[in-house]
Amino acid sequence: YSAKEARNSWKRYAIQMNLKAKEKLLLENDLRIALELGQFHLAYQPLVDLEHEILVGAEALLRWSHPQKGELPPSEFIPLCEENGFILPLGEWVLRNACQQMKTWQDKGFPPIVMSVNLSIRQFRQHDLCERIEKVLEETGLSPQWLELEITESIMADVTFATEMLERLKKLGVRISIDDFGTGYSSLYYLKRFPIDKLKIDRSFVNDVLTDRNDAAIVSGISAMARNLNLTVTAEGVESAGQVAFLKELKCQEAQGYFFSRPVPPEQFLSLFELDKGKRTMKETIA
Ligand code: C2E
Ligand code: MG
Ligand code: MG
Ligand code: MG
Repeated sequence: YSAKEARNSWKRYAIQMNLKAKEKLLLENDLRIALELGQFHLAYQPLVDLEHEILVGAEALLRWSHPQKGELPPSEFIPLCEENGFILPLGEWVLRNACQQMKTWQDKGFPPIVMSVNLSIRQFRQHDLCERIEKVLEETGLSPQWLELEITESIMADVTFATEMLERLKKLGVRISIDDFGTGYSSLYYLKRFPIDKLKIDRSFVNDVLTDRNDAAIVSGISAMARNLNLTVTAEGVESAGQVAFLKELKCQEAQGYFFSRPVPPEQFLSLFELDKGKRTMKETIA
């Protein structure tokens, strides 16, 4: 490895880094006006009760219709938004939009289901988060019991603050779920201490639940534990009838995944279900 080679490879690296930085700056610029230009929208994915085979909720998932890059998934812009703080106004836009949507559905007489909204750790750390949520609920007219906030285990990094914030949110009347459960560093101790309603088992454990004995044990263990702690449990990323059957066997309460539906635009969401006479079963029967 000669000095010249080293120099060249450093140069290549520097050029690449420079490109990345430039790209990031460009994206950051686009972000700033995207909200005003109405380029964000929400897709909704159903949450299904496995025992009764009924629709119980919708998760709001953010999408960005970028004028040049097309439809961008959150993984391509949320990390940047979290870094530069843009997630605060954007997250509030998501919250308001999702609550508005649910209220609209309710006003049309659709059966009551819960709206889940992902909350970034930066939003969670806002001291006036409760007031902000309260204001959105008031403005949209949605009653707090129909709103569920999805947070990740990362909030436990500051246990004192998290406990206090969760208790305030609970008092507000909204529901709380732990998203991507099992991938973070939550201690079982906190599960008992925190006023949470639901665990969402991360997709990575559900993926190979039929073929990997360790994953099966983990999913089964979390389901049993959640039941004993009186928490609802949702399996994320359910893609096959086999997985559904396995989860039913475990008495896992809820599931979400491509098997039922991908995240879809609001106009499509309710057409997935048979909603007449207060029923809310899936149109295509569940395995
Ligand atoms: P998440 O909250 O765990 O959401 C579930 C993700 O899994 C979604 O990806 C969904 O499309 C995907 N998914 C659902 N079912 C299946 C399945 O059967 N198979 C596979 N392979 N994937 C499935 P998406 O929409 O790309 O969102 C990724 C993540 O971005 C979300 O993970 C969430 O953490 C974050 N995110 C999305 N919207 C928001 C938002 O409004 N605010 C914040 N802070 N984060 C958001
Ligand atoms: Mg989520
Ligand atoms: Mg998440
Ligand atoms: Mg998740």
